[in-house]
Amino acid sequence: MSETQTQGTTTQGRAGTPDAQDLAGRYSHSMIGVFGTPQRVLVRGEGTHVWDADGKEYLDLLGGIAVNALGHAHPDVVAAMTKQAGTLVHVSNFFATPTQIELAERLLELAKAPEGSGVFFTNSGTESNEAAFKIARRTGRPRILALEKSFHGRTMGALALTHKEAYRAPFEPLPGGVEFLPAGDTAALEAALAPGDVAALVLEPIQGEAGVLPLTEEYLRAARELTARHGALLILDEVQTGVGRTGEWFAHQAIGGLQPDVMTLAKGLGGGFPIGAVLTFGEHATGLLSPGQHGTTFGGNPLGAAVSLAVLGTLAEDGLLEKARTLGTQLQARILELAGRDPRITGVRGAGLLQGITLAAPIAPQVVVAALEHGFILNAANPSTLRLAPPLIITDEELGSFVEALPALLDAAERAAASTTDEKRS
Ligand SMILES: *Cc1c(COP(=O)(O)O)cnc(C)c1O
Repeated sequence: MSETQTQGTTTQGRAGTPDAQDLAGRYSHSMIGVFGTPQRVLVRGEGTHVWDADGKEYLDLLGGIAVNALGHAHPDVVAAMTKQAGTLVHVSNFFATPTQIELAERLLELAKAPEGSGVFFTNSGTESNEAAFKIARRTGRPRILALEKSFHGRTMGALALTHKEAYRAPFEPLPGGVEFLPAGDTAALEAALAPGDVAALVLEPIQGEAGVLPLTEEYLRAARELTARHGALLILDEVQTGVGRTGEWFAHQAIGGLQPDVMTLAKGLGGGFPIGAVLTFGEHATGLLSPGQHGTTFGGNPLGAAVSLAVLGTLAEDGLLEKARTLGTQLQARILELAGRDPRITGVRGAGLLQGITLAAPIAPQVVVAALEHGFILNAANPSTLRLAPPLIITDEELGSFVEALPALLDAAERAAASTTDEKRS
């Protein structure tokens, strides 16, 4: 992360005011260093913009990684949070609350879940996947299938489903029985399922952390058909793709008739408030966990549920799913038009407002640094892919301003990459 530091010293960037420097120093002296050196200290947000400790403004094209569905300080979220905070924030799960029940019903309705379906609330994506893992174990079958390049979270069970060696290796042994298959390979899937001892297949409709890699409709249909035929659960991790992000309530709904057995959610569900959910479809999947076999203290508390209901309500009322679809298509067209003139951009993939812009050279991290200098927040999902997951309230004009700036960001990134190479040589 030293790149960030040398880059930023030019103007009003990383060096910052004494205040910002002080905060950065206190961060590194007080936090466990798992996230590296933070790029900026952010102090305030409104709509699609955030401000750092130096007062510099940024267009937020990352939305807290697909979390801030309604941007920052949205009045509907503030109102719901404030009202519920003054009514009932938390009770134990010995008790039910109206907001929690209403949210469960709303999610089942949006997911078009059949009679006998159910919801378990969590506080994060990884916890949703932990619950899904336990549901899979309850089938009594020993094997679980996940995909290469998958990301399902950092706790031990979710980590066991995550493919990346660097994340897994320091923490082995992980819960056993998980096997990884190449994404998109139907023959490999069929062969793996054939013995009839697979509990579940877990996959992301679009592999977000891997670089916004969509699975094809054919593969997802095959996954549904083959798991059903061999009595395995199909678990869809929609932690990143769910809640309107791709222009559907849940990404798999773009494929008519496709219904998972289990779906996991988090990220956008609370618009920034930590809440996740697991949906089980139909009586079989819903019945796998019996009383006492799982639990949570905070999951589904009335404050989180109230905020989530507000997020879902505003997404629907303001037509933000349709907007995500339209803006995604327009953004792709803009990027492809630019790629036609600028060979440093090779393409764009994704759905709605989850998009990956692919680069010819592995300079995505340098582009991210240059973008910050120019007032844009995005991230490098892998060395040659820029990920955009902006608030769904973003405008076409705002997205256009980024596309317009992109060639200059690439210039700056190329310069930075070249100077790093020079440093290495000398
Ligand atoms: C972010 C993410 C997770 C983990 O969510 P956390 O809230 O960080 O635990 C799991 N699965 C997918 C697909 C994700 O994008």
